[in-house]
Amino acid sequence: MHIRTLVVTSDAGERARLTLLFEPMAGDPTGVALRFASTLDEARRTPSALDLLLLVPAAADGARHATPPAEVAGFDHVPVVIVGDAIGIASAREALTSGLADDVMLSTDSRLDTLARFAAVIERVRARARDRSGGDIVLAAMADAVITTDAAGTIGYCNDAACHLTLRGRNEMLGARLVDVMTLHDAGTLAAVEHPIARVLSEKHVARLPPGVVLVCADGSEIMIADSTSPIVRPDGKLDGAVMVFHDITAAHQLQSQVDYLARHDFLTGLPNRFAAQLHLAGILHQATMHGWSLAVMYLDLDNFKWINDTLGHAAGDRLLTSVAARLRTCCRSIDMVSRQGGDEFLVLMAPGTNAAESAGAAQRILETVARPHVIDGETMLVGCSVGIALHPEHGHAADTLLQHADTALHAAKAAGRNTYRMFQDRMLDSVSERRALENALRLALDAGGLELFYQPKVCLADGAIRGCESLLRWRHPDWTRFSPADVVRCAEQSGLIVDLGRWVMREAMRQARAWQDSGLDTGPIAVNVSALELRQTGFIGHLEDCLTQFGIPPATVQIELTESTLMRDVASAVDILHRLREIGMSLAIDDFGTGYSNLSYLADIPVDLLKVDRSFVHGIATASPRRQALLRAVLSIAGNLGLPTIAEGIETTDEANYLMDAGCRLGQGFLYSPPVSAAAFERLMPH
Ligand code: C2E
Ligand code: MG
Ligand code: MG
Repeated sequence: MHIRTLVVTSDAGERARLTLLFEPMAGDPTGVALRFASTLDEARRTPSALDLLLLVPAAADGARHATPPAEVAGFDHVPVVIVGDAIGIASAREALTSGLADDVMLSTDSRLDTLARFAAVIERVRARARDRSGGDIVLAAMADAVITTDAAGTIGYCNDAACHLTLRGRNEMLGARLVDVMTLHDAGTLAAVEHPIARVLSEKHVARLPPGVVLVCADGSEIMIADSTSPIVRPDGKLDGAVMVFHDITAAHQLQSQVDYLARHDFLTGLPNRFAAQLHLAGILHQATMHGWSLAVMYLDLDNFKWINDTLGHAAGDRLLTSVAARLRTCCRSIDMVSRQGGDEFLVLMAPGTNAAESAGAAQRILETVARPHVIDGETMLVGCSVGIALHPEHGHAADTLLQHADTALHAAKAAGRNTYRMFQDRMLDSVSERRALENALRLALDAGGLELFYQPKVCLADGAIRGCESLLRWRHPDWTRFSPADVVRCAEQSGLIVDLGRWVMREAMRQARAWQDSGLDTGPIAVNVSALELRQTGFIGHLEDCLTQFGIPPATVQIELTESTLMRDVASAVDILHRLREIGMSLAIDDFGTGYSNLSYLADIPVDLLKVDRSFVHGIATASPRRQALLRAVLSIAGNLGLPTIAEGIETTDEANYLMDAGCRLGQGFLYSPPVSAAAFERLMPH
């Protein structure tokens, strides 16, 4: 095999030297077939197959070391080697580093050295060409659209996906200006959006479209896209063009909008939820404070709703709540916000400018309207409600204070015999003394061993096998049974007792884990609920590590459950702690998932192992409206897209379990399988 080499030199001495150097040798099958040209122009005019271009600047012309790199243009894919002497070699090397020559060698190199260098450089250049064509195959097969342009923004390449997404043929694209074939506008305002290529070509920086940009396809249809557009810069710093990679995010965007809606609305009644109300209250308080306006915050709770739920069933209860929600809307102005806080509790935020008399009028209207008979499934139902009102600025300036005072007024209305409203008054704060009593009793119980952990199994929906459990606090003191575990935890949070309580819970759960391990029971991970205040307290991680060491259990035995609202309150400050948890080897579940978040981007930043889909999604899902079912599926599909396993909470019926399984959820927890039970009873649930 001969290396077909074209030597460009005007130096007769060099011609002679090279001819001699590459003279065929007996027994050497390799060799170099030399042809000569005096200038690059002449070389370009002699078209023939070529393996190598050898540039030998003439010593006599004083530019032996100065081969202007641009001259080499026109010999694409042919390796270029510059031969220089000891003086010229430095500048020849510049040509090498700028990528315009492929190798540089000394004119004093031996035949063997030279041949080896030639072979290597030819192989390198060919491999590069192979990679490039391999790259083309990859680009062509990519699901993302890829378009490259020259420095003027004219399209030089586009892959199949680009044609497919823009609905334009390759012929139409190639040679056109990218900005002409890709019309972009903002999905919300419809205003034209500058094509990122324009910025990339002028600033030589990577650019991205802002969120919410729509591409108008050739047939006028629209898709939402996300992109990354980068400059293509040659080694010498000159701009060669740009490459835009983009894909269709329409479906993902629709899912996100659904989730955003879900994040701010209660899905049973369609009213704004607790989270949306909190945001709105912050906004109107700001406005009212700036202008010196008053406003009213009104809590509303149905009387004896629990009784209706228990006797007529959850489905009837749900329909009654929906009917009440619709009536509440008719009692308020469009500038007021009616929201559902959860359960049978509603919050009305009356717009800035509302005074005491107006809010009392609205409360009276609400009492009368809600009390009118509701016809549900042909049955007539009667329900009353109680309302508590707090006014800004008389009763408080901060959102928390106003909400607390409205709640206190609501309790006063209930105590006054229900179906009535009360405006907040300072003396109502006396009931705070009851909270103090609860706090004291709880402190005593904590010290005297009056608390207990119950365990609720987490099961595999397909076969009912126990895969783990959740520990739940129980305080069975006859004086305090009217307070649920959630009330107790809230009280502990308000009084700061939560830190000691949380430490007790963690230690007790780990002690139990050790005991079960010692008796050979494989219960799977034990989940421990942790509240926001516990998590952020300094020393939280230290305490966990101490407990792990004390009981000598593997960290994976314990899973931390954090409610989504806990996290959302301050993701940034929780992130470090959660990463520490992961480093220790503990896992993390997001509890009550699907309630009260603003967006899901936080899931990308924290190491989550399990999403616990909130009970409100599960309840009655098998016969729920298509909208509710679609929302549940959206939640599960988001989890699926994030690669996160899900568990459904509060499963009470086989219909719910079957529906969830069908929707792709594998784990479940709920009364259908077992209520939370004592450790001894839990052991009996485990297979022996
Ligand atoms: P969670 O962590 O979401 O716990 C699930 C709650 O749902 C438990 O209520 C459980 O008894 C209840 N549940 C389970 N299955 C079903 C079902 O099929 N139907 C219905 N209707 N309910 C079901 P519980 O024990 O009253 O606890 C309420 C909340 O109190 C917990 O919600 C958790 O946020 C908090 N909590 C309980 N124990 C602790 C604890 O040790 N520490 C902290 N920080 N919070 C705790
Ligand atoms: Mg939990
Ligand atoms: Mg939960």
